[in-house]
Amino acid sequence: MTLDNGTWNWPDDHAAWRRVCNAMHEEQTVTHEGGCPICGTGTLQLAFTIDGPERRWVERGVTMCGTGRYWEWCEQCRSYEYYCRSSVPEWARAHVVTENEGWRDPRQAARLIGA
Ligand SMILES: [Zn+2]
Repeated sequence: MTLDNGTWNWPDDHAAWRRVCNAMHEEQTVTHEGGCPICGTGTLQLAFTIDGPERRWVERGVTMCGTGRYWEWCEQCRSYEYYCRSSVPEWARAHVVTENEGWRDPRQAARLIGA
């Protein structure tokens, strides 16, 4: 993945974006090949970061490993969404990115997870 300095935008069709991204969370996957609802062909990606100590608990049947934030984005059309507070699921532990206070740009998340 090559990411340039172009503009990133919140999804135009937020309802469609949420349907696909919510399904990724439910299916416990961090990539959705060709599944972007905005451009129709881009790959959606998901990355988390943990703020504070790791700990384990179960929330609606899903084991969590901490609280933090997450990003969802499509490199192709540069749509993205950022959630500043979230439980971080254990299934995404391998995709948790390093804390770097102040970044909201999905390019940073992409760089940190080596996407
Ligand atoms: Zn897209």
